[in-house]
Amino acid sequence: MKRLTRYAFFLVICGYAFCPVQSLVAAERPNIVFIFSDDHAAQSISAYGSKINTTPNLDRIGNGGTIFENCFCTNSICGPSRAVILTGKHSHINGFVRNGNRFDGSQQTFPKLLRKAGYQTAMVGKWHLGTDPTGFDYWHVLKGQGPYYNPPMIENGQQVKHVGYTTDIITDITLDWLKEKRDDDKPFMLMFQHKAPHRNWQPGPKHLTMYDDVTIPEPPTLFDDYIGRGTAAKTQDMSIEKTMTAYDLKLTPPRNLTPEQLETWNAAYGPKNKAFEEAKLTGKDLIRWKYQRYIKDYLRCVASVDDNVGRVLDYLDETGLADNTIVIYSSDQGFYLGEHGWFDKRFMYEESYRMPLMVRWPGVTKPGTRSDELVSNLDFAETFLDIAGADIPADMQGRSLVPVIKGKTPQDWRTALYYHYYEYPGPHSVRRHFGVRTKEHKLMHYYNLDEYELYDMQRDPDELNSVYDDPNYEKVANDLKRRIKEFQDLYQVPDDSGTVTKDGKVIKGAKPGAKKT
Ligand code: CA
Repeated sequence: MKRLTRYAFFLVICGYAFCPVQSLVAAERPNIVFIFSDDHAAQSISAYGSKINTTPNLDRIGNGGTIFENCFCTNSICGPSRAVILTGKHSHINGFVRNGNRFDGSQQTFPKLLRKAGYQTAMVGKWHLGTDPTGFDYWHVLKGQGPYYNPPMIENGQQVKHVGYTTDIITDITLDWLKEKRDDDKPFMLMFQHKAPHRNWQPGPKHLTMYDDVTIPEPPTLFDDYIGRGTAAKTQDMSIEKTMTAYDLKLTPPRNLTPEQLETWNAAYGPKNKAFEEAKLTGKDLIRWKYQRYIKDYLRCVASVDDNVGRVLDYLDETGLADNTIVIYSSDQGFYLGEHGWFDKRFMYEESYRMPLMVRWPGVTKPGTRSDELVSNLDFAETFLDIAGADIPADMQGRSLVPVIKGKTPQDWRTALYYHYYEYPGPHSVRRHFGVRTKEHKLMHYYNLDEYELYDMQRDPDELNSVYDDPNYEKVANDLKRRIKEFQDLYQVPDDSGTVTKDGKVIKGAKPGAKKT
């Protein structure tokens, strides 16, 4: 109402009371709603062809706009992906190379630049960068990782306590900001960021028994033996069989529930856990049970994200804001949903390397469009600035996706992407590697092991058999090695990247990057 009242006053004093409000709004620079979740794999979004669930509200974004089939992250881990998005720079340049680093909030970020360009900026939900957000008119974020229930949060520097389910709460705060707190006279950029469906995948009260009566299809590689790949795939610590804990599997309830929440939880999980104990499963049957428990809880968390995204989309529709608002859905990386017997992320293998990216831009994107261009989280900052008509700084390392979104991909669009994962030693024991992906092939180099893996993505989309030692692929391997070297020169990746430690400061030789792909 506040918005309409102010517009009505403006219209009356201008003598244009007959002019519809909407035509004025449409002439303004578009608003941006960036919806971001944590660890949400594209293979659990129905617009991406999920075989295991449906996401009707996320599909409203994808099917109403453009679905990017080939969006990949530069470093498949939570904090680093967020830092890349904020800065448009690779991890070794923005200084956040692994979880546990602290983001240097004094550096250039796209929210700061949008604010300078006249946008109102807000950040609600999961931030997870170790330092307070900078560049926002309003921020209300989880402390650190944040729990699924009753999250302590920080609102513009002040601690706030909330009771309820975190995905619902983040949405309530987002809607409150849209309705009551934003400045109606400015275009806005809102980051609406969920903790879900991150581990430990604790569903909300509305979804505790969803999927109880169904069996979710298993991925074909659930019982992968890792023959055909090198040391890293064989020595990781992220398998459903060995790594998942009783807490992950909900054999014990979440630790911070109110008595009422605990009662509801136990009513749902008590009978399921009793049946499991009585079954006394072993071997493959036990792995199958763990997979079902894991994937159902994951999908229950996704269902809550989907419902809550629907609430925000409904609000945009009801107020007419949708007509001049770009809505984007993405997640910080992909995730293994039992493929290769795994959960978690980190590897450059497809399931965790790929990010969902769906963009709905009324009047610009054609509903039902699918793009197979190679794009990256390195491009997001540049894209937001381009949408706003703001200058894109020369030291950002990606490219604006606006021409691609408009269906006018430049002739010189990239034909390969560079990847670099650093967090070893670390959780889940995934070895450091860098690599390059084209539309046809992927070369990975585990540089501390001095092992290469090469995949033919068309013939072997599940990446089960490295063809690095196949003489027929020698030329491809050499070409991709050359491209890795070119990328490392272009991005000024330090030679001693294998010595990065937790504070991120031992990287030597890194200079501000000034080149793009
Ligand atoms: Ca993540």
